[in-house]
Amino acid sequence: MTQLREIDYLISGQGLAGSLLAWHLLQEGKKVVVVDEDLTYTSSKVASGMMHPITGRRIVLSWRADEFLPFARNTFKSIEKATGKQFFFDMPVFEIYHDHGNRNDWIARSAQDKFKDYLGEECLANEVHENVNAPFGGQWLNNSGWLDAGKFVIAMKEYLSDNHSYYSGRINSNDFINTENGYFFHDIKATKFISCTGYQAIFENDWKHLPFNPVKGEEIAFTIEENLPTDYIIHDSIKIIPLGNKQYRCGATYTWKDYTPTPTTEGLLKLKEGVATLIKVPFTITSQRAGIRPATFDRRPFLGKHPEKENLFIFNGLGSKGVMMGPLLGFEMMRFLVYGDAIHAEYDIKRFSEAYYSSVATK
Ligand SMILES: Cc1cc2nc3c(=O)[nH]c(=O)nc-3n(C[C@H](O)[C@H](O)[C@H](O)COP(=O)(O)OP(=O)(O)OC[C@H]3O[C@@H](n4cnc5c(N)ncnc54)[C@H](O)[C@@H]3O)c2cc1C
Repeated sequence: MTQLREIDYLISGQGLAGSLLAWHLLQEGKKVVVVDEDLTYTSSKVASGMMHPITGRRIVLSWRADEFLPFARNTFKSIEKATGKQFFFDMPVFEIYHDHGNRNDWIARSAQDKFKDYLGEECLANEVHENVNAPFGGQWLNNSGWLDAGKFVIAMKEYLSDNHSYYSGRINSNDFINTENGYFFHDIKATKFISCTGYQAIFENDWKHLPFNPVKGEEIAFTIEENLPTDYIIHDSIKIIPLGNKQYRCGATYTWKDYTPTPTTEGLLKLKEGVATLIKVPFTITSQRAGIRPATFDRRPFLGKHPEKENLFIFNGLGSKGVMMGPLLGFEMMRFLVYGDAIHAEYDIKRFSEAYYSSVATK
């Protein structure tokens, strides 16, 4: 008979959410196993990974940016140290002005105190890199960077494996037995189970009441022969991230109601067109990838405990800002699980308890 391995936390999904939660739990000395089916394309594996404190065309400071950004940087740096791998890069962003009105909007933000840590100098039109198309100039953004999220996931998989905390495979609700004594999965007995399965949570019966709004995204990689910036990200409606060796990455598209994580011709054309408007030199596309972001209708993440089932939890809904939000939210989720600290009402899934009970009542 196989000996049961008793652990504290069983996590399904090793994207950004599952990896970061596992990292924080391991830092507290907890016994953790993360189960992942290891697909080629997932949201985390294809993410462009930009960490950017400003949101949208209205140029607003992102939600909790002042807290999320330094915490994310410190967490990724600590994980780099522990794994001996590099995947996080501090890098300024060059925000392209669309027209004179847009330039005025950026200048107005520069005068506001809350933007002082993020907005640098203006780049006048005559100072723009010769091969970048920015006829109105642009704005330098500080305190930004990018995560090679695919490399991060691989480094964390190795780290978890080395710590006997990784299990390769798919975990379905009928694969494990939930009893009063905990969750049984193969030879593992866990006290608590946390679902970190990204957009696939929409197919899980326990989380059907949560209003996910998954968004498919595509990105491409390309090479160029000519001279293009290598030490900053170019950003307009899409971003161009330098990878070194004349290689660049560009994303992303947004498509709703398509849950096939496969690249499309429309996506390719859109990104190709986007790159052609941002740079003045020819480029050769080398790859195209797609993933599905676990976005939510109220644009807030989903953290917390199942309304009825004891010891069943979720950490999800990182949407299009998983790099910036994931580290601190993963830490808060760990504090909730281990120490019972409250989750802020704005993103605690308790906000959907009523929806859950009415869905149960109508069954
Ligand atoms: C094209 C694109 C560009 C993006 N760009 C950025 C960006 O610039 N900046 C940014 O911050 N974010 C970006 N994102 C969003 C970012 O990728 C997400 O916020 C983040 O990766 C979500 O992580 P997750 O762990 O919640 O989900 P996922 O990455 O989807 O991870 C879930 C994991 O669970 C596994 N899984 C699911 N079900 C099971 C099961 N039953 N058993 C075992 N394993 C299971 C999956 O295989 C997967 O590995 C982008 C996303 C896309 C698609």
